[in-house]
Amino acid sequence: MQKSGLQILHLYPNHMNLYGDRGNLIAIQHRALERGIPVEVVHAEPEAPISWRDVDLIFMGGGEDSHQARIAEDFLRRAPELTRALEDGVPMLAICGAYQLLGHYYRTVNGDKLPGIGFLDVTTEAGRPRAIGDVVAHTTLDITPRSLVGFENHGGRTFLGTGAVPLATVQLGQGNNGQDRTEGAMHKHAIGTYLHGSLLPKNPHLTDLLIRWAVDRDGNTDLEPIPMDLELKAHDVILSRC
Ligand code: GLN
Repeated sequence: MQKSGLQILHLYPNHMNLYGDRGNLIAIQHRALERGIPVEVVHAEPEAPISWRDVDLIFMGGGEDSHQARIAEDFLRRAPELTRALEDGVPMLAICGAYQLLGHYYRTVNGDKLPGIGFLDVTTEAGRPRAIGDVVAHTTLDITPRSLVGFENHGGRTFLGTGAVPLATVQLGQGNNGQDRTEGAMHKHAIGTYLHGSLLPKNPHLTDLLIRWAVDRDGNTDLEPIPMDLELKAHDVILSRC
């Protein structure tokens, strides 16, 4: 079924928003509106009611350990409805701290274990030093170009279980854990990644994939092509740092 307008659910914007994560929403809105697709963004803080069946795309940004701790309980309480939506193919972009909580758990630098919803088969333990810097990675997603660029800043080391598929292979930067060269994880249309930046303004091909999934969860609808040259110029600046 194809949608004519999109509702984006932005989870915990006051708590989970680092390094310009909110720019991801601006990029989605921009590239949808350029195609005549109206977008409504609904913000949900802890305790806020959510009308899940109206949601076409979910976004949650990164956060410091203390901010993750503040929303973790509320996030877990929403696990049944969120999991149902993700199983139904609603796309989600979860950055860094949000990615960690989409997995089984995140153990913070203080040793506190924050349980996640386990939609992604990944676990995360905080470590030192923090992984900080530009990232260039190459994805197996069917998008052109295959390169993804961003900026990472995390203490967590994420390891993938057998049920997780990495989003990409790292060429520059640390990615999930600095050891196996994987970056991020995905399942159905949910993408977890360490890439801030903001990510989507510099990766318009990934923005378009999320919009395509949001418009039509079965992925049968091609989006009208629109220019992405400016965004790809920013993309190429990071690529040139390899
Ligand atoms: N607090 C988490 C970590 O340090 C997530 C950080 C982030 O979202 N940038 O790994």
